[in-house]
Amino acid sequence: MTTDPDRSREVTRRRLLGGLLGTLALGTGAVLTGCTRPPLAREAAAGAAPSGGPAAGTTSTASPSTATPSAAALTEQQLAAVAQRHQGRTPKAWGLQTEGVVLRSGQQQVALTFDACGGPGGAGVDTALLALLRAEQIPATLFLNSRWIEANRTLADDLAADDLFELANHGTRHLPLSVSGRSAYGITGTGSVREVVDEVAGNHDLLTRLTGKEPRYFRPGTAYYDDIAVQIVRDLGEIPVNFDINGDAGATFTTGQVASAVGAARHGSIVISHMNQPKGMTAEGYAIALPKLKKAGITFARLDDLGLR
Ligand SMILES: [Zn+2]
Repeated sequence: MTTDPDRSREVTRRRLLGGLLGTLALGTGAVLTGCTRPPLAREAAAGAAPSGGPAAGTTSTASPSTATPSAAALTEQQLAAVAQRHQGRTPKAWGLQTEGVVLRSGQQQVALTFDACGGPGGAGVDTALLALLRAEQIPATLFLNSRWIEANRTLADDLAADDLFELANHGTRHLPLSVSGRSAYGITGTGSVREVVDEVAGNHDLLTRLTGKEPRYFRPGTAYYDDIAVQIVRDLGEIPVNFDINGDAGATFTTGQVASAVGAARHGSIVISHMNQPKGMTAEGYAIALPKLKKAGITFARLDDLGLR
């Protein structure tokens, strides 16, 4: 594990130190889903380190967003007020299913969500997965981290302009969301109320500039929250979202495991997978699962279409 100096140029008013990529477990299954996956077997065999840069066809140079923001970013006054409201409070819960985090919807459709975590080994693009979703016309919600956006600005603009996709907030430094510095999988989380506010608001601003509208959904790096952090996310106007289906275990699943996990989605499921690990088998697994789900009558929706609260 190494720290990742955040190279964000956009979020200048934030104190950006190191971002660490996440892993997480689903329930008692202890299955990884985050970005700090070990090298895949074939990478290890080839002696190659996990990819640390953007995939071919993307750019690592910043380019101006084509979107014209129509929504105002959160003001420092608003951020300070939210921080003040929760200052000194003691969290009572910590985990993936903290009260107030949405895990499923009450609707019939399945919501596919894909995280793009950024940072070392996490700034790639699963172009096969995106092509599959577009070919099958499957709507999805893409949780983008600031570091991934910075490494893939041209693609981020492209995704923002595609109505098939909805862009959501995967944090600024990709940290577990804690008011007291709690860790998940060895990754130290945000250490104060103000750091929670900044972790949400930094990427909130970046996404607002990218898409022209404020993001509505949040998932932190590692997907861990404490209960105070959950309330802070909501006070900043976003809905904390996790999942009931772990689709790719941080892109470590085999094709068969992805197909099986995703294939188990049922009405109201929210599925988490990753779109930043092209060397994983996520796209291959979805290529098997999606036609089967369609044949079973499952339909898909972006989170925005589900009326989440
Ligand atoms: Zn992530």
